[in-house]
Amino acid sequence: MTQKFDVVVIGAGPGGYVAAIKAAQLGLKTACIEKYQDKEGKIALGGTCLNVGCIPSKALLDSSWKYYEAKDHFAIHGIEAKGVSIDVPAMIGRKANIVKNLTGGVSTLFKANGVTLLEGHGKLLAGKKVEVTALDGTTQVVEAANVILASGSKPVDIPPAPVDQDVIVDSTGALEFQSVPKKLGVIGAGVIGLELGSVWARLGAEVTVIEALEKFLPAADDQIAKEAMKTLTKQGLKIRLGARVTGSEVKKKQVTVNFTDADGEQQLTFDKLIVAVGRRPVTSELLASDSGVDMDERGFIFVDDQCATSVPGVYAIGDVVRGAMLAHKASEEGVMVAERIAGHKAQMNYDLIPSVIYTHPEIAWVGKTEQQLKGEGVEVNVGTFPFAASGRAMAANDTGGLVKVIADAKTDRVLGVHVIGPSAAELVQQGAIGMEFGTSAEDLGMMVFSHPTLSEALHEAALAVNGGAIHIANRKKR
Ligand code: FAD
Ligand code: AMP
Repeated sequence: MTQKFDVVVIGAGPGGYVAAIKAAQLGLKTACIEKYQDKEGKIALGGTCLNVGCIPSKALLDSSWKYYEAKDHFAIHGIEAKGVSIDVPAMIGRKANIVKNLTGGVSTLFKANGVTLLEGHGKLLAGKKVEVTALDGTTQVVEAANVILASGSKPVDIPPAPVDQDVIVDSTGALEFQSVPKKLGVIGAGVIGLELGSVWARLGAEVTVIEALEKFLPAADDQIAKEAMKTLTKQGLKIRLGARVTGSEVKKKQVTVNFTDADGEQQLTFDKLIVAVGRRPVTSELLASDSGVDMDERGFIFVDDQCATSVPGVYAIGDVVRGAMLAHKASEEGVMVAERIAGHKAQMNYDLIPSVIYTHPEIAWVGKTEQQLKGEGVEVNVGTFPFAASGRAMAANDTGGLVKVIADAKTDRVLGVHVIGPSAAELVQQGAIGMEFGTSAEDLGMMVFSHPTLSEALHEAALAVNGGAIHIANRKKR
């Protein structure tokens, strides 16, 4: 007999699994289909984020940072750490355990919330029927009142550097190196390229990042991007801007990369090359030809602001639709859609999705950049505060970077918070909370912040917007 559900979700990444749990919590009979197999051949939940994305990359970033600090930065605290060494397989093993723990945790949550897991490949047929092909090839068709497509994304390949997951790898391969490459090339100075480049640079690799664009981190505020370029270069990353890869050749376990820049044809040879040139939506074999779901010109499933597709009762969320390819964006879309299916009037504020790059120092922002606002003709007041003037940052020997608060010159409403520095992601979240409630710079300035904290840098930057910072000389006078 055909199984019938109120909601069937295809894909158990941070979009799909969160949507499924929320739908079940709202009393809807829910199933989630997932096909990803771990190294043991078992279905693993959590999608890109938990298996080969956010979590494993942060595990390696944290491990490599501890090594880097122990090796190069303990002496300043009077701590002698001689003979510090790195056991790469142990580091990779720790990462694998964290992934296992978390993906297992999602399975437990499914059971606790009564979500039915259907293992296999899901395909949307006409009439909101979904075909599930199990790993052994057997198929069943389930019926759904509502379907949520959450099939995510995968790395973009470029013909000049075909991935072999040995010498030329994508982000997934770069999480599995068993030793530190002497020379590492990274194509793409986006979030993923910079994070993975940082991991291996901290462990001793000589890292060159090759980026086609002339501008570094074009989505970030210019002042923050400039500071980031300076800091990462100081840490040893060689960042070649305006450099487009045109070809590569693998020979004797090394790869020679050809690229062109302002000086003409260039060539560099590496032991490993990470291709990190972006991600694209996964829609292959997802939709039957008569499913009725439209895609946009770039292959993303076409949705409106509430994630509804062209078929009533069929929704799409996360990396497979327009917008930032971020786990928290996927999850919040999942919650919104589940709530809308349950009859609530949920909305999502797309203007306040924080962005984070987990380098050290972290780079994070929410809202608009100064150049964006100026481009829109909005008059702004800007307050900045450097971590070099923060007592807490000094205590931690982590004084690089700054907080920048941008407010509307007429209303004082905060329009952007941009941070490069220690715990930037956490600090920006405070800005996001304030902005969600329409905070002014004055409001932030009037709040009591614990001393000594890194958060005081946000407080001082907010005060500086109107010339009232206490612990630095104010550029703007009251
Ligand atoms: P996914 O996580 O891609 O999940 C989709 C799931 O659907 C997969 O498990 C897939 O197997 C399954 N699936 C696809 N098609 C089918 C089908 N037909 N049938 C059954 N199952 C199917 N984001 C952040 O916010 N913070 C970070 O720090 C961060 N770091 C990252 C680091 C790296 C190295 C990478 C690669 C990504 C990172 N991201 C980060 C991005 C983040 O991983 C994605 O934005 C997020 O995973 C998107 O969630 P999703 O649910 O839309 O898709
Ligand atoms: P993101 O989309 O943020 O992950 O970043 C990917 C980066 O890769 C972008 O900044 C692109 O400009 C860059 N990129 C794409 N193709 C190439 C190429 N052939 N050579 C160098 N950089 C590239």
